[in-house]
Amino acid sequence: MPNRAIFFDRDGVLNKDIHLLCKIDDVIIPPDTIDAFKLLSGVECKKIVVSNQTVISRGLASENEVDNINQHIDNAILTLTSCKIDRFYTCPHHPDATLEKYRKNCDCRKPKPGMLQEAAEDYDIDLTQSWMIGDRISDIIAGHRAGCRTILIQTGMHKEKPIISDDMDLSISPDYTCNNLHEAVLIIVKDWT
Ligand SMILES: [Mg+2]
Ligand SMILES: [Zn+2]
Repeated sequence: MPNRAIFFDRDGVLNKDIHLLCKIDDVIIPPDTIDAFKLLSGVECKKIVVSNQTVISRGLASENEVDNINQHIDNAILTLTSCKIDRFYTCPHHPDATLEKYRKNCDCRKPKPGMLQEAAEDYDIDLTQSWMIGDRISDIIAGHRAGCRTILIQTGMHKEKPIISDDMDLSISPDYTCNNLHEAVLIIVKDWT
């Protein structure tokens, strides 16, 4: 049987969004994230993070430094909840990247569904049985395009209107909207049982 998955955006979903997070010391994991993963530790599903990291394309942090931050988040959650994140996928690209190396119109930058599709191949995931949780409409569009159901978390950072790019279909709206990650995970677990 194929696996089901929850896809998480990182900043503003797992950790507090402080805008352009570049240092481990600045990682803040709120209590509702801990509650969410305590709940998920007993649930059979892949836990996958899919994150656009413009700090890389802007030259503010290296791929390695972002990997270290991801590792730190994974370790903190594992220590506090016994729940392990299966994999972090990161898009380092941007069409207007400061660093030429990362300047491209890639297939992985959300709202494109590339990272979710890659994970589905890597982990044999049935996307129609899976969910995407994010705090921006670009997360919701990526999840929807991949064939997942979606939950928008309103943490406050992105309540203003999103910056619209050509590849955003704003007729797409989340299946659910809630206030934090714990509420989102409760919706999914209830749906799965
Ligand atoms: Mg975010
Ligand atoms: Zn990319």
